[in-house]
Amino acid sequence: MPRTLITGGAGFLGSHLCDRLIAEGHEVICMDNLLTGAVANIEHLFPEDRFTFIRHDVTSFIWIPGPLDYILHFASPASPRDYLEHPIHTLKVGALGTHNVLGLAKEKGARVLLASTSEVYGDPLVHPQPETYCGNVSPIGPRGVYDEAKRFAEAMTMAYHRAHGLETRIVRIFNTYGPRMRLADGRALPQFFGQALRGEPITVYGDGSQTRSFTYCDDLVEGIWRLLMSDYPEPVNLGNPEEVTILEVAREIIELTGSSSEIVFEPLPVGDPKVRQPDIERAERILGWRPRVSRADGLRATLPYFRERVLAESGQPGGANP
Ligand code: UDP
Repeated sequence: MPRTLITGGAGFLGSHLCDRLIAEGHEVICMDNLLTGAVANIEHLFPEDRFTFIRHDVTSFIWIPGPLDYILHFASPASPRDYLEHPIHTLKVGALGTHNVLGLAKEKGARVLLASTSEVYGDPLVHPQPETYCGNVSPIGPRGVYDEAKRFAEAMTMAYHRAHGLETRIVRIFNTYGPRMRLADGRALPQFFGQALRGEPITVYGDGSQTRSFTYCDDLVEGIWRLLMSDYPEPVNLGNPEEVTILEVAREIIELTGSSSEIVFEPLPVGDPKVRQPDIERAERILGWRPRVSRADGLRATLPYFRERVLAESGQPGGANP
């Protein structure tokens, strides 16, 4: 039975990956310091013999007794609000945390998959973004703490691959959504769902003409699984190439929720990328992967989760514990 460590395993994507690996027959060790993750995302796995949760911060030395076959390194704040609130920790988890993970992998002979991000492309000057594009990132801008940490993490991962022959995989994840996102993480979709369901104004930053490409979590998990099982060490973009403006997404969520919320415009945060769309030719060629879930279907599938979160927040019956 393969034995797999997932750092950040109690987070949004980490917890979906725990589910997938358990379903694939792995023994799963989930490590999380619960800075932005939540026990609620993984507690359904507690009765499972093949599942262990360890509360630990990967920026401190990691040790796992026994063999390890795979490590998925997903620990990091990932929403702009979170990494602006925890700038030093975000840098540390990308740098020191990644170094600890790679050191553990080398010791155990495990294959490592690094969760990287479309943020390595910064505010891109090439559109859509292929993996060969080196990006347009300000090291000292507010997003630099995340972008540069992930760029360093990629550099460190490739160095361990080249210097030590470690088996490594790098996924560059584009905006992903679905159940288990934190309602208050500040990202566009949780924010818009929360505002629409409470009947509050929807806050669109700038004029809303900036674009993103949103991937439903199930599609992403499938792509990550295929990448983990592949023999491809270079970075691979995973994202839905369907590009949309933020204003359009705000309108879609108002329509889907049947909300009477109006749209209000607020200042665009510094460094907010104007466009983002993955070139997924590599993922299609190497992994035979492309997203299957349309935005309309994915948003519909996510609505009941956010409805429950908003109910829980207001203390009304029907809402589960936070
Ligand atoms: N955004 C917005 N209103 C919000 C939250 C986000 O208009 O209440 C915009 C944000 O400025 C960005 C886009 O939505 O242009 C996506 O933001 P998100 O925080 O989800 O992630 P990003 O892709 O910027 O990392």
